Amino acid sequence: MNNKKKILIVEDENNIAQLLAVNLMLAGYDYDIASDGEDGLNKALTGSFDLILLDLMLPKMNGFEVCARVRKKLSTPIIMVTAREEEKDKILGLDTGADDYVTKPFSFSELLSRIKANIRRSSNELVHPEKVQSDEQSSITVRGLTIDTEKYDVTLDGEPISLSRQEYDLLLFLAKNLGKPFTREQLMETVWGYEGYLGDIRAVDVTVSRLRAKIEKDPGEPEYLLTKRGIGYYLK
Ligand code: CA
Repeated sequence: MNNKKKILIVEDENNIAQLLAVNLMLAGYDYDIASDGEDGLNKALTGSFDLILLDLMLPKMNGFEVCARVRKKLSTPIIMVTAREEEKDKILGLDTGADDYVTKPFSFSELLSRIKANIRRSSNELVHPEKVQSDEQSSITVRGLTIDTEKYDVTLDGEPISLSRQEYDLLLFLAKNLGKPFTREQLMETVWGYEGYLGDIRAVDVTVSRLRAKIEKDPGEPEYLLTKRGIGYYLK
């Protein structure tokens, strides 16, 4: 049986798609290419991919729409690929359920480290339920915030809140280390699973902003997820 990981490249610029394809092949992955959003969605929904590389600006259906529709059905890791000028505001404004994002132009080695980390994290999820059984704590409470680590549920003042996988992982990690600040690099390594990560660390800021929008009464004056100036973030 072929046990190579298979990646779906959704990219309308043929030269970029081909370049990604060749590099993925050399790195030991199988791949398929979709050159517009509709084709990307249809292929993604077959469920035969371990990860989806999703360009944002696509003909027929944009990457946000594709991502949101895939997420309704599947938990396949999705890395959103954005061009510099359009990236951050849009991503902050819309929670489409992407697991990660990279900004063009990116180095293939950086992309590869993210592909590996996202595939590893999603396969860890599958074995996670057994691991949790032996955990002494099945929930963590920080004032009004409760994280149920068996059900992956988070409630705020008794109300359920819906978090993406990364938001959940970040919150859980900070809750387990209450009051202790971590640098963005440390969080990239421990929460995101990028070993020796030297690339773009703004994914941390994006996830923090999203998390604040969900758990803070006033995200501009956070009471839970605080910034430690000159260091990084911690949960109070
Ligand atoms: Ca494009």
